[in-house]
Amino acid sequence: MITEIDAADMLTLSAAARLDKGMPSNRQIASAKLYASEMLARVTDAAVQVHEGMGLMDDLPLERFWRDARVERIWDRTSEIQHHIISRDLLRPLGA
Ligand SMILES: Cc1cc2nc3c(=O)[nH]c(=O)nc-3n(C[C@H](O)[C@H](O)[C@H](O)COP(=O)(O)OP(=O)(O)OC[C@H]3O[C@@H](n4cnc5c(N)ncnc54)[C@H](O)[C@@H]3O)c2cc1C
Repeated sequence: MITEIDAADMLTLSAAARLDKGMPSNRQIASAKLYASEMLARVTDAAVQVHEGMGLMDDLPLERFWRDARVERIWDRTSEIQHHIISRDLLRPLGA
């Protein structure tokens, strides 16, 4: 789980660094958003699983994290739209 969180941090920092330098960064931003929001779903789901039934009780904050994670794949462009941005960036220079 921490490896995936670290990977999302690295993608985000890498995209931000490109943006700061004024380099083209649409694909890198889309990759960071796609990976981080999908990773959040996996990690919060695993956290609920580790805590078994308690993970779904409101004594712990995990069920709220799990529910909140869902919207990240929808707002600020959905995962499907991030896929479009990434594939367009890769394929358009090839004439697609
Ligand atoms: C809680 C919440 C808060 C929000 N807050 C804001 C806000 O503050 N500001 C703001 O501007 N917006 C906000 N939104 C809107 C949000 O950004 C949109 O819901 C999101 O961008 C998806 O657009 P849509 O709902 O029109 O879905 P649609 O574009 O109608 O998409 C419906 C489904 O079809 C898929 N889809 C659409 N087009 C394609 C395609 N070409 N190929 C493959 N799949 C496709 C989508 O991925 C999605 O799964 C919020 C949404 C939610 C749920």
